[in-house]
Amino acid sequence: MSRYLPEPTKISKPFWDSCNAGAMQIQRCADCGTYAFYPVFICPECASRQLEWTPVSGRGSIHTYTVAAQSVFEGVEGPVVVALVELEEGAMMTTNIKTDDPYGVHIGMAVKLAYEPISEDITLPVFEVAS
Ligand SMILES: [Zn+2]
Repeated sequence: MSRYLPEPTKISKPFWDSCNAGAMQIQRCADCGTYAFYPVFICPECASRQLEWTPVSGRGSIHTYTVAAQSVFEGVEGPVVVALVELEEGAMMTTNIKTDDPYGVHIGMAVKLAYEPISEDITLPVFEVAS
């Protein structure tokens, strides 16, 4: 099975553009300061429409995760760590943890943002164990 590629939409294109540029941005509410991810039209906290694309630090921690022993996608070697990372800014992001020790990953582990180009148009935000 081929890997599914994200298809940027009107609301998500700024996110994918920032990942392609190696400087990920997510939306921040100008009214209440909440950071939102995935891309949304209104703030999930206060329903404001004043969302601004804002760079993030790239630091976070593993909120929860699982290790898939085998990948179902051609060209992706398992085991694969699929994680929910809590960004330092507070937003949660479903992502992969790139590590040589997938079974050494744990909840609360500090991680840092990295980028994985997977096509001409798409660069995935992934995370590595922070040293
Ligand atoms: Zn808000």
